[in-house]
Amino acid sequence: MKLSKRLQLIADVISKYKQGSVLADIGSDHGYLPCYLVKNKIITCAYACDVAQGPLDSAKETIKQYGLEDKVFALLGNGLNPILDREVDMISIAGMGSYLISEILEEHREYLRNVKLMFLQANTNNDHLRKYLFANDWIIIDEQMVKDAGHIYEVMVVTARQNKAITYNRKDEEFGPILINNQTPLFKEKWQKQYQVYEKIQNTLPHDHPRYHEIADKMKMIEEVLHRENSTGGCKGNG
Ligand code: SAM
Repeated sequence: MKLSKRLQLIADVISKYKQGSVLADIGSDHGYLPCYLVKNKIITCAYACDVAQGPLDSAKETIKQYGLEDKVFALLGNGLNPILDREVDMISIAGMGSYLISEILEEHREYLRNVKLMFLQANTNNDHLRKYLFANDWIIIDEQMVKDAGHIYEVMVVTARQNKAITYNRKDEEFGPILINNQTPLFKEKWQKQYQVYEKIQNTLPHDHPRYHEIADKMKMIEEVLHRENSTGGCKGNG
């Protein structure tokens, strides 16, 4: 089974960090991710959950195609509802917007107390998702980026905060606490492009417009983050 680059990164990250052996994939659509994980023995059992019948039927097809009927179970329902009476070690939610993902998490906060790890990939507004996570005692233990079909995606590995000393600031929310430190070429590409987008929007706004200042603030943050290496100094030659 060949996954898209985006789903492959999520599978690789799950393989690297997995705790336990049962995963629920929420909003699974074709069920490619859970089927891949079970077929490749990364986990032993999975739930492919979706709110709509069409995608669920597609997941059932994939499960049948790979002969995984006794290991991957397709469940119909909104968000975490289909797994509330089942125990899972890990949850993945990918390919949705940040607002929807945080709503799904918020709806069953109690249930999530027993989940060891979450693997989240939002298509938009990663800052909103991180803000939600940090405000609700979750921490990000790894973040990775991938470019697939021209889009840059971020994958977060999330667990419950045990150590209250871990805190996050606004730049962590905006850029990602791990990504900001790694500063990969893809990270730079994303934020250089975003800077240009902001510049274009700003040029259309009068200086006294509230959005003008909001954007100016975001552009300043990008400048600070991307030029951090220069400002932290380093070794200078003697000559
Ligand atoms: N997770 C797959 C991926 O990353 O490729 C599929 C993503 S697909 C764009 C989003 C799926 O989420 C759709 O199949 C949709 O029906 C499902 N979905 C949307 N809202 C949902 C919700 N509240 N609960 C469960 N599934 C949902």
